[in-house]
Amino acid sequence: MDYQPLPAIFVADAPGLDFLNSVATPVDEPIDWIGDGEGLLDWLEQAQMVPREALAALRAQFGQADFDAVAAQARALREWFRAFVRERKGQPLRAADLDALEPLNRLLERDEQHGELVANAPGGASSFALHARRRHKTPESLLMPIAEALAKLVCDEDFTHVKACEGPRCTLLFADHTRGHARRWCSMAICGNRAKVAAHRKRLKDAQAQEGDAR
Ligand SMILES: [Zn+2]
Repeated sequence: MDYQPLPAIFVADAPGLDFLNSVATPVDEPIDWIGDGEGLLDWLEQAQMVPREALAALRAQFGQADFDAVAAQARALREWFRAFVRERKGQPLRAADLDALEPLNRLLERDEQHGELVANAPGGASSFALHARRRHKTPESLLMPIAEALAKLVCDEDFTHVKACEGPRCTLLFADHTRGHARRWCSMAICGNRAKVAAHRKRLKDAQAQEGDAR
């Protein structure tokens, strides 16, 4: 399939928004990192949302068509949630938004999580910690860490500071955690530099125009 070796983009400072950014146009051509099952598996590994051993176990047990079907569900989830975020970013979420989040609650119902005691490093206040683990028995279970990231986004993130990059053709979203909340770009490498170059060109052009007028 149309599998993209380019690394996925993780600039959102919030995993739920990184998921929305799994389709983007970093250069000229749009890339969908979860355009098929193999892409989804690879994106989840890059996002560190599913342990590598769990991905390997699923790969050994299921076929490409199974993963392609889940990737299609993931893309539908992504575009549904993108509409939710784009409509509400820039202001705090309200309790009344819960109705609109019903599809996410339906998905969270299917999650299979359990706790596991693990030993802490010596010298800490406690010898043990309780870690949340997830069972990955089916390809559909790959949607669960994504659902969890989206749920955490609506619970923990102040939507006042959820922003879209100001790059004219950029679709990337991010949570602005900078002091003063002055972040404007997905990243300097992608859109910040592009904007700087454009501003520089404009200044040159304006200066040339002024010289022309002076003559
Ligand atoms: Zn951008």
